[in-house]
Amino acid sequence: MKRYETVYDVMVIGAGFAGMAATLFAAERGLSVAQAGATGGIDFSTGFLDLMAVHPVAEGRYWDSPWDAVDAVIRDVPGHPYARLGKECIRTALDDFTTFLASQKLEYLGHADRNTPVFSPAGTVKRTFRVPRTAWKGTEALRDKAPTIIVDFHGLKGFSGPQIVEMQKQQWPDLKTARLAFPGSIGELYPEHMAWTLSAPERCAELAKAVAEHARNVEYIGFPAVLGLNDPVRTVSLLEELTGRHVFEIPTLPPSITGPRLRATFDRGLAPRGVCTFSQKMVLNARRADDGLFSFQIGAAGDVRTVRARNAILASGRFFGKGLLAHRDGVIEPIFNIPVTQPSSRTQWHTERFFARQGNALNLSGIEVDDRQRPLGTNGAVLHDNLFAAGAILAHHDWMRMKCGAGIAIATAYHAVRSMIDSGSKG
Ligand SMILES: Cc1cc2nc3c(=O)[nH]c(=O)nc-3n(C[C@H](O)[C@H](O)[C@H](O)COP(=O)(O)OP(=O)(O)OC[C@H]3O[C@@H](n4cnc5c(N)ncnc54)[C@H](O)[C@@H]3O)c2cc1C
Repeated sequence: MKRYETVYDVMVIGAGFAGMAATLFAAERGLSVAQAGATGGIDFSTGFLDLMAVHPVAEGRYWDSPWDAVDAVIRDVPGHPYARLGKECIRTALDDFTTFLASQKLEYLGHADRNTPVFSPAGTVKRTFRVPRTAWKGTEALRDKAPTIIVDFHGLKGFSGPQIVEMQKQQWPDLKTARLAFPGSIGELYPEHMAWTLSAPERCAELAKAVAEHARNVEYIGFPAVLGLNDPVRTVSLLEELTGRHVFEIPTLPPSITGPRLRATFDRGLAPRGVCTFSQKMVLNARRADDGLFSFQIGAAGDVRTVRARNAILASGRFFGKGLLAHRDGVIEPIFNIPVTQPSSRTQWHTERFFARQGNALNLSGIEVDDRQRPLGTNGAVLHDNLFAAGAILAHHDWMRMKCGAGIAIATAYHAVRSMIDSGSKG
């Protein structure tokens, strides 16, 4: 009996934005892919795809054009992940990613060369590059300051219509709010349960009826993002039909349904592409044999599988995803023991004011890679010619403050897959 059944073209380590994107891009190019990973940033995301909006972070300068912002970042921060890619690569990566999402009923909209102002869950406005179709009408209402009502629900935490109105009232007098009972429910409400409930047309009809008396003089109705899980565009269209108003969603505070929607979309879309998914499983260790093949142990004590692959893409994130671990004496990368660029001592991890606008040095930590996104060792040489890296684990960016999280993850995943294919990845 053979000890190993399959040798995959690539093992993707990570199931956040970068891991999902790398898996998709590799599978679409005909590579056999195994993927492992647990909960990542994607599960908590607002669903907006940020490309680049703030630079320099110390000045908090917002950019309307993400591409001008990318140019500025490449000029000012030569180590930034975008500096290795070029704008065409970034654009193609995001287009391919959103084309896939649209094919799975999760359509995104946005301008070619402009960021779009959107509501954050707290009622503030941020700029982002791609917006789920279900939130798009909200960007129009916001732009035109049109007569709009924000609906929230008794028992739903993490979303407050009055807070949004309070934040916007100076510049938007025609914005109002109403708090309703959610159809068929009393007590505490959870976005996922609400989304399932509203997948049923009769529940939508009840909701539309409840909203009607509050929505007489408005053009737009904004809801928390609970309007369906697998086909939210259909739920939004139905509510528009039933209310005769434009309808849009605003993400709730994490965990919002917008993250599980993305994950469910990948679960649906990757399986038919032949991806072998180790869902909620971690790579425990990696070994590279003399013939260059990687073998990975995946799972947890008592339930460990071995997977072999010709290449690997490390998309394990930073601290949140556990791609980097912060120990008392420094930050490490636990799977391959790749050196991590980091502040020289722990006292420099943070500034005295934790929420200082310029951010904390620790948030620029990460691994170094060459132009083909292969991790570098302490001597600056490529560690393995068949190991690539993508996403937040790369050094020299503060995605949270720069508003470039999904953009970096998706574009670097694209570049990693392309580099891997260029180096002859298939068996
Ligand atoms: C609350 C929140 C809201 C956000 N909102 C937005 C937004 O609105 N727009 C935007 O553009 N971005 C947003 N982001 C950021 C975006 O999610 C991150 O930039 C992005 O997640 C980074 O992606 P990543 O895949 O590199 O890392 P992560 O998302 O951290 O994913 C890392 C993955 O690696 C896996 N992993 C780690 N170690 C192992 C191992 N040993 N074996 C196997 N798998 C492993 C983890 O389980 C996880 O699946 C948000 C993030 C958070 C946390």
